[in-house]
Amino acid sequence: MKIRVWIPLVITLLMVCLSSYGFCSGTDKFKRSDFPVVLMYHDIKETEINGFDVSVKDFCQQLDWLAAHEYKTLSVHEFVECLTQNTPFPKKSVLITFDDGYDGINTYAVPELRKRGMKATFFIIKNRMGNKLTGYSYLTEQQIKELSVDPLFSIQPHTLTHADLTKISAEQLQDEVAGSKKFFEDLTGTQSETIACPYGSYNKSVLDAVKRAGYKASFAVSDQGLYDHEARFSIPRIYMGIIMGKNNMELFKKSVLNYKSIPKEAFVERFGSLD
Ligand SMILES: [Zn+2]
Repeated sequence: MKIRVWIPLVITLLMVCLSSYGFCSGTDKFKRSDFPVVLMYHDIKETEINGFDVSVKDFCQQLDWLAAHEYKTLSVHEFVECLTQNTPFPKKSVLITFDDGYDGINTYAVPELRKRGMKATFFIIKNRMGNKLTGYSYLTEQQIKELSVDPLFSIQPHTLTHADLTKISAEQLQDEVAGSKKFFEDLTGTQSETIACPYGSYNKSVLDAVKRAGYKASFAVSDQGLYDHEARFSIPRIYMGIIMGKNNMELFKKSVLNYKSIPKEAFVERFGSLD
């Protein structure tokens, strides 16, 4: 058989392989189905109190389920590389994120993640570090610095003050977005490649500021994502917590397995209805 006959066959085979491997195009426009599973935790506690808490027992069960099903945990850098370098996401991969920087991260989450060699990304609010005033205890600057040198963990900004970025002046927006990027880069000596928008609140001006500051991606809260073809800057995450179906393991599995198509039950308690 002549080589010319083989070329289309090889190209077709290559395309099939790449598409089944979750190949991403490298452009600014992505669909939800282009992303691997992204989990959003807040605090881990012995017994959950607030809607966004997850108990240690449930957290361990969730990590064990991911490990048993051969999910590979990604660092935020590996995640961003796949978005920007035309490299494929591993077929079964998950980005584990935590917002706000509560001290349950150090007390409970970090030991369990280390035990299993699992990676995670912590989005930290600059002005809340070491703060206990709101009734929540936050990680201190020193603890965050120590976490940042562990190759399993990444520290990324969750702004300076946790302001709703859609409700502040242009100068404040610039400070919250670019100021927190610089602060955490100076603190950890690593690049702030992504940001999580407080309350998942964003609009065109916010995303423009995020891009201008040099971020490569930003994360939404829960299902509020994929803003106007700017999927890379509004990546949906699975909202973990008792708010999400009473920590029902079945619902967790369903959310992970159906991340690309959104299982309705996972968000009904929070949003009422998705219809
Ligand atoms: Zn937050």
